[in-house]
Amino acid sequence: MLITYCFLILYSMLKTIRFSLIIAIILSGSLFYSCHRADDGNKAKYVFYFIGDGMGLQQINTTQAYLAAISDTYGNKDLSFTSFPVTGFATTYAANRYITGSAAAGTALATGSKTSINTLGLNAERTDTLFSIAYHAHKAGFKVGIATSVSIDHATPAAFYAHQPDRNMYHEVAHDMVKSGFRFFAGGGFLDPEGEKSKNPLGNVFEKGLAENFYFTQTFPIPDSILNAYSSIVYSVPEPDASSTLKCRIDADSADVTLADITSLAIDVLMNPKGFFLMVEGGKIDWACHNNDAATTVGEVISLSDAIAIAVDFYNKHPNETLIVVTADHETGGMTIGNGSMKYETNFTILANQKQSIDGFNKKVLEFKTKHKSNPTFNSYLQFVSDELNIDPKAYNEMQLSYLQKAHLASLKQNNPRDKEANRKEYGSFDPMATAAIRVLNQRAGLGWTTMSHTGAQVPVYAIGVGQEMFSGNIDNTDIPKGISRAMGVDLP
Ligand SMILES: [Zn+2]
Repeated sequence: MLITYCFLILYSMLKTIRFSLIIAIILSGSLFYSCHRADDGNKAKYVFYFIGDGMGLQQINTTQAYLAAISDTYGNKDLSFTSFPVTGFATTYAANRYITGSAAAGTALATGSKTSINTLGLNAERTDTLFSIAYHAHKAGFKVGIATSVSIDHATPAAFYAHQPDRNMYHEVAHDMVKSGFRFFAGGGFLDPEGEKSKNPLGNVFEKGLAENFYFTQTFPIPDSILNAYSSIVYSVPEPDASSTLKCRIDADSADVTLADITSLAIDVLMNPKGFFLMVEGGKIDWACHNNDAATTVGEVISLSDAIAIAVDFYNKHPNETLIVVTADHETGGMTIGNGSMKYETNFTILANQKQSIDGFNKKVLEFKTKHKSNPTFNSYLQFVSDELNIDPKAYNEMQLSYLQKAHLASLKQNNPRDKEANRKEYGSFDPMATAAIRVLNQRAGLGWTTMSHTGAQVPVYAIGVGQEMFSGNIDNTDIPKGISRAMGVDLP
């Protein structure tokens, strides 16, 4: 009995020891692992943060499928970032609305705190200032760059340096840029540099910038003498679009400056032994998706991918010191692969028939209407679309044909303000004949759109480099700047 009892005690002791041993091994293993990740002095010295405005998973997937299709392969072609070792999904909701906007989402991606719709760099009640990872990196001695394909004062770039209750206060936002003192800014220019639309103009932003040792330029490379003489450099493209943006890839020619050019320039300006933080926004993916214009969307995703390829080249030269994170602020358009009018069919290559963005195509529609004294017949409209988008007028199915007929009739009523307003709700800001022709082209590609606004869909996150593991799995948009700050060893309170 006593022997049995002793044996049982001994057995349970051994069991406990064995259990403790296993726990100790697991703990030491995980400690070693976390030491290896966070405490081996391996910090992200060079950080690239790419934000595709409106770039949901389907915008990326469609671009991959399109690139595969036009090179006669089946499936998906890799973009510069789609094979990064870490992928995740981020929720995007704002503090006061599930479907977010670029100001609230930009603030979350920049500061790690959610805010209300249209608010930039302030809390949801607009009573407290929120500071971004760019601000803290700048304070810690990193050189900071903010670049975009839209205007420099637009919501996403502004979220990294501005603190304004309304994203539309472009003049005040531009002045916040000067106040930030960051090293580099680039994009299409400014929307209200003089304060013409401001309630309380703060003066000409270029003059204010010069007084603060800012250098404004439209050419590159920028000589060392300038880089040494000025504390901040602002580059804007010499021929911006009417909306102070880079031209869309689909509308640009080889002489036009690209987001990849700007990314290269940013590296030239920012490179230094202490490191840098660079945010680059592909801003017109969102605009193309608001217009439900898939061909332009694909071009803008390619343009962002080309810019990321520049960062990947940099990463390959500095793999132990670089972090690249790619994500989106939200999805726009409810884009999807699959359209009811085509059942299971897709034909991605048909998107290549569209040679300009819907903005340019709309101008052609208006010229066509003028030529026909604002009263073109339906058949001449079909012929026009066939000439412009290379679709056989006999190829349309019943659904597509009746949609084009409806848009043709709506377009003929554009002169009546009430009809025009009704048309705007259904067809957006373009002539119904332009919108319908592009929509039908998208349908024939096998693509669908649910809205001309944003959606609440989660967005993908891709990461490579130091601290990459912090961006995997299901995360929130506010976790992304927190992860970047930890990788950099910079506080983000
Ligand atoms: Zn948008």
